[in-house]
Amino acid sequence: MALAGGGADTAQLVVVSKTRSVAAIEEALKAGHRIFGENRVQEAASKWPALKARYPGVDLHLIGALQTNKTRAALDLFDVIETLDRPKLARAIRKEIDRGAPSPRLFLQINTGKEPQKGGVLPGDLPALLELCRQELGLQITGLMCIPPAGEEAASHFKLLADMAKLHDLPNLSMGMSDDYALACDMGATHVRVGTAIFGPRETAGA
Ligand SMILES: *Cc1c(COP(=O)(O)O)cnc(C)c1O
Repeated sequence: MALAGGGADTAQLVVVSKTRSVAAIEEALKAGHRIFGENRVQEAASKWPALKARYPGVDLHLIGALQTNKTRAALDLFDVIETLDRPKLARAIRKEIDRGAPSPRLFLQINTGKEPQKGGVLPGDLPALLELCRQELGLQITGLMCIPPAGEEAASHFKLLADMAKLHDLPNLSMGMSDDYALACDMGATHVRVGTAIFGPRETAGA
Protein backbone atom coordinates (compact mmCIF):
# COMPACT_ATOMS: atom_id res chain seq x y z
CA MET A 1 0.00 0.00 0.00
CA ALA A 2 1.36 3.43 -0.83
CA LEU A 3 0.09 6.90 -0.13
CA ALA A 4 0.28 9.68 -2.65
CA GLY A 5 0.64 13.28 -1.56
CA GLY A 6 -0.31 16.28 -3.64
CA GLY A 7 2.89 15.84 -5.62
CA ALA A 8 4.07 13.00 -7.79
CA ASP A 9 5.97 11.23 -5.04
CA THR A 10 4.69 8.27 -3.13
CA ALA A 11 5.67 6.97 0.27
CA GLN A 12 5.44 3.65 2.03
CA LEU A 13 2.62 3.61 4.53
CA VAL A 14 3.74 2.42 7.96
CA VAL A 15 0.49 1.57 9.74
CA VAL A 16 1.00 2.48 13.40
CA SER A 17 -0.62 -0.27 15.43
CA LYS A 18 0.44 0.73 18.96
CA THR A 19 -2.39 0.25 21.49
CA ARG A 20 -4.50 -1.56 18.85
CA SER A 21 -5.96 -4.99 19.47
CA VAL A 22 -4.82 -8.06 17.58
CA ALA A 23 -8.26 -8.18 15.98
CA ALA A 24 -7.94 -4.64 14.66
CA ILE A 25 -4.45 -5.33 13.34
CA GLU A 26 -5.67 -8.50 11.65
CA GLU A 27 -8.18 -6.47 9.66
CA ALA A 28 -5.29 -4.61 8.05
CA LEU A 29 -3.32 -7.82 7.55
CA LYS A 30 -6.29 -9.53 5.91
CA ALA A 31 -6.65 -6.52 3.62
CA GLY A 32 -3.09 -7.25 2.49
CA HIS A 33 -1.14 -4.60 4.37
CA ARG A 34 2.27 -5.69 5.67
CA ILE A 35 4.19 -2.63 6.97
CA PHE A 36 3.48 -1.76 10.60
CA GLY A 37 4.96 0.43 13.32
CA GLU A 38 4.99 -0.07 17.10
CA ASN A 39 6.54 2.20 19.71
CA ARG A 40 7.14 -0.22 22.58
CA VAL A 41 9.17 -3.41 22.47
CA GLN A 42 7.20 -5.17 25.17
CA GLU A 43 3.81 -4.38 23.69
CA ALA A 44 4.97 -5.41 20.24
CA ALA A 45 6.39 -8.67 21.64
CA SER A 46 2.99 -9.51 23.06
CA LYS A 47 1.23 -9.17 19.69
CA TRP A 48 3.58 -9.64 16.76
CA PRO A 49 5.38 -13.01 16.99
CA ALA A 50 2.05 -14.82 16.51
CA LEU A 51 0.87 -12.42 13.81
CA LYS A 52 4.17 -12.69 11.94
CA ALA A 53 3.87 -16.47 12.00
CA ARG A 54 0.39 -16.31 10.49
CA TYR A 55 0.98 -13.53 7.95
CA PRO A 56 4.25 -13.89 6.04
CA GLY A 57 6.06 -10.84 4.74
CA VAL A 58 5.39 -8.45 7.63
CA ASP A 59 7.84 -5.55 7.86
CA LEU A 60 7.77 -4.31 11.46
CA HIS A 61 9.20 -0.89 12.36
CA LEU A 62 10.18 0.26 15.85
CA ILE A 63 9.18 3.93 16.02
CA GLY A 64 9.56 4.53 19.78
CA ALA A 65 12.56 4.96 22.05
CA LEU A 66 14.75 1.88 22.53
CA GLN A 67 16.48 1.24 25.86
CA THR A 68 19.80 -0.52 25.42
CA ASN A 69 18.75 -3.38 27.72
CA LYS A 70 16.00 -4.24 25.25
CA THR A 71 18.24 -4.22 22.19
CA ARG A 72 18.28 -7.99 21.65
CA ALA A 73 14.52 -8.30 22.07
CA ALA A 74 14.04 -5.47 19.59
CA LEU A 75 16.36 -7.00 16.98
CA ASP A 76 14.65 -10.36 17.30
CA LEU A 77 11.28 -8.76 16.54
CA PHE A 78 11.71 -5.63 14.42
CA ASP A 79 12.85 -5.53 10.81
CA VAL A 80 13.50 -1.80 10.99
CA ILE A 81 14.66 0.39 13.89
CA GLU A 82 13.72 3.99 13.14
CA THR A 83 14.90 5.43 16.46
CA LEU A 84 18.65 4.90 16.66
CA ASP A 85 19.82 8.14 18.29
CA ARG A 86 22.95 7.67 20.38
CA PRO A 87 26.37 6.01 20.38
CA LYS A 88 25.58 3.67 23.27
CA LEU A 89 22.62 2.22 21.40
CA ALA A 90 24.60 1.94 18.17
CA ARG A 91 27.28 -0.04 20.02
CA ALA A 92 24.65 -2.28 21.63
CA ILE A 93 23.10 -3.02 18.23
CA ARG A 94 26.52 -3.88 16.76
CA LYS A 95 27.26 -6.17 19.71
CA GLU A 96 23.98 -8.07 19.41
CA ILE A 97 24.40 -8.50 15.66
CA ASP A 98 27.87 -9.91 16.32
CA ARG A 99 26.23 -12.34 18.75
CA GLY A 100 23.88 -13.53 16.03
CA ALA A 101 20.89 -11.20 16.22
CA PRO A 102 19.20 -10.36 12.90
CA SER A 103 20.51 -7.17 11.34
CA PRO A 104 17.74 -4.56 11.01
CA ARG A 105 17.46 -1.65 8.59
CA LEU A 106 18.35 1.46 10.57
CA PHE A 107 17.12 5.04 10.58
CA LEU A 108 18.67 7.73 12.76
CA GLN A 109 16.06 9.72 14.65
CA ILE A 110 16.74 13.45 14.60
CA ASN A 111 15.47 15.78 17.31
CA THR A 112 14.74 18.55 14.80
CA GLY A 113 12.98 20.72 17.40
CA LYS A 114 15.82 20.27 19.95
CA GLU A 115 13.25 19.31 22.59
CA PRO A 116 14.94 18.20 25.82
CA GLN A 117 12.36 15.50 26.62
CA LYS A 118 12.34 13.99 23.16
CA GLY A 119 14.48 11.23 21.71
CA GLY A 120 16.65 11.77 18.70
CA VAL A 121 20.13 13.03 18.05
CA LEU A 122 20.51 16.82 17.83
CA PRO A 123 21.04 17.99 14.26
CA GLY A 124 24.54 19.20 15.08
CA ASP A 125 25.51 15.79 16.45
CA LEU A 126 24.35 13.85 13.40
CA PRO A 127 27.67 13.84 11.52
CA ALA A 128 29.56 12.29 14.45
CA LEU A 129 26.91 9.62 15.07
CA LEU A 130 26.75 8.78 11.40
CA GLU A 131 30.52 8.50 11.23
CA LEU A 132 30.58 6.22 14.26
CA CYS A 133 27.93 3.95 12.74
CA ARG A 134 29.47 3.82 9.30
CA GLN A 135 33.21 3.83 9.98
CA GLU A 136 33.73 2.26 13.36
CA LEU A 137 30.73 -0.02 13.75
CA GLY A 138 30.03 -0.94 10.13
CA LEU A 139 26.32 -0.26 10.57
CA GLN A 140 24.61 0.80 7.39
CA ILE A 141 22.15 3.65 7.95
CA THR A 142 19.29 3.79 5.48
CA GLY A 143 17.63 7.07 6.39
CA LEU A 144 16.47 9.69 8.89
CA MET A 145 13.31 9.97 10.97
CA CYS A 146 11.77 12.87 12.90
CA ILE A 147 8.76 13.74 15.04
CA PRO A 148 8.21 17.52 14.81
CA PRO A 149 7.27 19.33 18.04
CA ALA A 150 3.52 19.22 18.78
CA GLY A 151 1.73 22.39 17.82
CA GLU A 152 4.50 23.61 15.56
CA GLU A 153 4.43 23.99 11.80
CA ALA A 154 5.86 20.67 10.56
CA ALA A 155 7.13 21.93 7.22
CA SER A 156 10.36 23.48 8.48
CA HIS A 157 11.19 20.24 10.34
CA PHE A 158 10.49 18.11 7.28
CA LYS A 159 12.71 20.42 5.23
CA LEU A 160 15.53 20.22 7.75
CA LEU A 161 15.31 16.43 7.74
CA ALA A 162 15.26 16.24 3.95
CA ASP A 163 18.24 18.59 3.67
CA MET A 164 20.25 16.55 6.17
CA ALA A 165 19.44 13.29 4.41
CA LYS A 166 20.54 14.72 1.09
CA LEU A 167 23.76 16.11 2.53
CA HIS A 168 24.68 12.72 3.97
CA ASP A 169 23.52 10.57 1.06
CA LEU A 170 20.71 8.85 2.95
CA PRO A 171 17.91 7.65 0.67
CA ASN A 172 15.03 7.25 3.14
CA LEU A 173 12.97 9.80 5.07
CA SER A 174 10.43 8.72 7.70
CA MET A 175 8.27 11.76 8.43
CA GLY A 176 4.60 12.61 8.54
CA MET A 177 1.79 11.24 10.69
CA SER A 178 -2.02 11.38 10.54
CA ASP A 179 -2.24 15.17 10.47
CA ASP A 180 0.52 15.93 8.03
CA TYR A 181 1.38 12.89 5.92
CA ALA A 182 0.35 14.58 2.66
CA LEU A 183 2.66 17.50 3.36
CA ALA A 184 5.43 15.06 4.27
CA CYS A 185 4.94 13.20 0.98
CA ASP A 186 5.21 16.47 -0.90
CA MET A 187 8.46 17.19 0.93
CA GLY A 188 10.07 13.88 0.05
CA ALA A 189 8.96 11.37 2.67
CA THR A 190 9.65 7.77 1.71
CA HIS A 191 7.81 6.49 4.80
CA VAL A 192 4.83 8.01 6.58
CA ARG A 193 3.69 6.69 9.98
CA VAL A 194 -0.08 6.77 10.33
CA GLY A 195 -2.24 5.44 13.16
CA THR A 196 -5.23 7.58 14.06
CA ALA A 197 -6.27 8.34 10.47
CA ILE A 198 -6.60 4.59 9.88
CA PHE A 199 -7.87 3.15 13.17
CA GLY A 200 -9.52 6.19 14.76
CA PRO A 201 -8.55 7.86 18.05
CA ARG A 202 -6.47 5.87 20.53
CA GLU A 203 -8.15 5.17 23.86
CA THR A 204 -4.93 5.09 25.85
CA ALA A 205 -1.96 7.41 25.55
CA GLY A 206 0.25 5.67 23.06
CA ALA A 207 3.18 7.98 22.74
C1 LIG B 1 1.89 7.20 17.46
C2 LIG B 1 2.94 7.58 16.49
C3 LIG B 1 2.63 7.86 15.15
C4 LIG B 1 1.21 7.84 14.62
O1 LIG B 1 0.54 8.96 15.04
P1 LIG B 1 -0.97 9.24 14.54
O2 LIG B 1 -1.18 10.65 14.86
O3 LIG B 1 -1.85 8.29 15.27
O4 LIG B 1 -0.98 8.96 13.07
C5 LIG B 1 3.68 8.16 14.30
N1 LIG B 1 4.95 8.20 14.72
C6 LIG B 1 5.30 7.94 15.99
C7 LIG B 1 6.73 7.99 16.38
C8 LIG B 1 4.30 7.61 16.91
O5 LIG B 1 4.66 7.36 18.19
